[in-house]
Formats: sequence, C-alpha cells, structure tokens
Amino acid sequence: MNPCPCGWRGDPNGRCRCTPEVAGRYLRKLSGPLLDRIDIQIEIPALTSTELSARSSATGEPSAAIATRVSAARARQLARQGKTNRELSGREVDEVCRPDAAGEALLREAGDRFGWSARAYYRVLKVARTIADLAGAEAPSGSQIAEAVQYRRALTVA
Ligand SMILES: [Zn+2]
Repeated sequence: MNPCPCGWRGDPNGRCRCTPEVAGRYLRKLSGPLLDRIDIQIEIPALTSTELSARSSATGEPSAAIATRVSAARARQLARQGKTNRELSGREVDEVCRPDAAGEALLREAGDRFGWSARAYYRVLKVARTIADLAGAEAPSGSQIAEAVQYRRALTVA
C-alpha cells in the first residue's frame, strides 16, 4: 500500500504534499481488525534512480540459496507437526511455538505495550516460529521474537 494518498510520504526530496492529518486519516482507513490479519508489515522507503540501478547489479544472496532454506524450513514444519506454521490452531501454537525464557518475556512485554488481541499474539508467535525454522533453531529465541514483533510495528499512525 502507499503510505499516503499521493504515495510520496517520507520521500527525501519532499515530493509529498499531504498534511499529517490527511496522511493519518488515510492510514486509519485500514481498520485495526484488518491490520491484525496482516502478519508481516514492512516499510519500504522510496529509492532514487541511482539507488535502483545500483541494486540491479545483484549483490545479495542468490534466490536459489534462499529457496533451499525456505524449502528446508517448510520440511521441518511438516515433519514436526504435519502442517505449516500458518495452519496451526491456538492450542498447537502453545505447544510448538513456545519461545525460550527471554523470548517469552519480550513477547509479553510487547503484547502489553501494543495492546495486542489474542489473534495478534498467536500470529507473532507463528512468524517467530517460522524465523526459527529458517535458522534451524529448536525454539524461537529472544531475538527471533523481537524480529517478529518488529514486523507488526511498521504501520503506525502518527
Ligand atoms: Zn503524500
């Protein structure tokens, strides 16, 4: 989605002409219950044409390596619970997504601070479990919980 009606909010060259009120009203149109269902929310800043062309000469990890890791994470989920993390029920989340002690504390604190619904809480746990699966970890760690929490925090209404 665009960050504001004109789409240029946050542009370093100041091309956005929306007032904070207009941009806030635009974001608030997305209702809480709708945002609640979007597990991963990431803010992507606009790039200049120079930055774009620099990125086209790929320097990152090749897609094939990422695909292998994703495939291994999925296989791990199916072997552990017979379904993907997304398909876990609340009770199953309690069983297989349990973070370590540091992760548990962080999760409780974030849930209190941001006033999460039970649904939001379970969704963060599933994302954290997936991050742990991608890393081949036994249980979601504090930093993996923190990463999952961060993915839920991008769209804030100023
Ligand atoms: Zn704008």
